[in-house]
Amino acid sequence: MSIVKSTTENILKAAEIIRAGGTVAFPTETVYGLGADGLNPISVAKIFEIKKRPTFNPLILHIDDKSKLELICETDNNKIQILIEKFWPGPLTLVLPKKKIVPEIVTADNPTVAVRMPNNQIALELIKRSGVPIAAPSANLFNRLSPTKAEHVYNQLGDNVDLILDGGSAEIGVESTIVEIENEEIILLRPGGITKEEIENLLKCKIQHKQKTTDPNSPGQLPFHYSPRTPLKFLSESYLKDIKNKKIGGIFFSKQSVEFNFSRIEILSKENNFREAAANLFSALHILDEANLDLILVEPLPEEGLGLAMMDRLKKAAANFS
Ligand code: AMP
Ligand code: MG
Repeated sequence: MSIVKSTTENILKAAEIIRAGGTVAFPTETVYGLGADGLNPISVAKIFEIKKRPTFNPLILHIDDKSKLELICETDNNKIQILIEKFWPGPLTLVLPKKKIVPEIVTADNPTVAVRMPNNQIALELIKRSGVPIAAPSANLFNRLSPTKAEHVYNQLGDNVDLILDGGSAEIGVESTIVEIENEEIILLRPGGITKEEIENLLKCKIQHKQKTTDPNSPGQLPFHYSPRTPLKFLSESYLKDIKNKKIGGIFFSKQSVEFNFSRIEILSKENNFREAAANLFSALHILDEANLDLILVEPLPEEGLGLAMMDRLKKAAANFS
């Protein structure tokens, strides 16, 4: 089994694997990433192969220092500086005009590239030691649940990855927020760990949430994604009345809010806290997906703050079964 502790020695070994063109799964504060040398198209192709991800779905490049941004994209927009000063390292991905050095396979032939600096010491050390930006989507099979623990990675990708660095549970637990900056306009492409409200307050402007449903360039924005194998639906009391002889799992925000004999329930945050709930979301879905249930019912959350990112993932999971 290729899961190892994130000791300095193992991070150096992982960096050597990246430099030699291999793949390494590593922790970030959002979810675990499946990384390869982001400037080497052959290494990047391995990511698509392992994840069974269609190559029209572009990847995010991860850097260890703000100064590396200009190596890979155009940075002549003052909003970029404001955003990275405030939110990097952290769960905010910027989509910016790419420079030539970035291979087409990373951007799915788009003229733009997605970049972020993660807020996780293991990830930062790995990128630094590798000496290249690391291309890394979430370390799960295409269309399946994102991993927030090293075991989640192993369960889906097994020994196809050269090495899995174990860094414990991901702190944030949902993917990064993705924004595209086009001249003066900021577009939210995917809600995530930094809330829309935080960005709007900082830049003192409204940002548009563009939900492209038909653009094949960004399947992260399609209405289905992030799915368990067990059918998942949103909870409604009227629906529960008609259910008989089925093993049902329930996911609730802070407490079981309906009377029903669930086979298993997961509470996302007893403290009623969005950050805690986001950190536990994928883990709860993984647990219920492994519990041999007929159906998972999820309590809808308010779509504000981190609730927007969580509901985005849950709606996409539910859409697979509608
Ligand atoms: P993942 O790495 O699986 O969390 O997904 C990365 C997501 O980033 C993709 O599904 C796209 O939606 C988005 N993305 C990456 N690069 C670009 C780009 N150049 N333009 C627009 N969206 C992008
Ligand atoms: Mg993903």
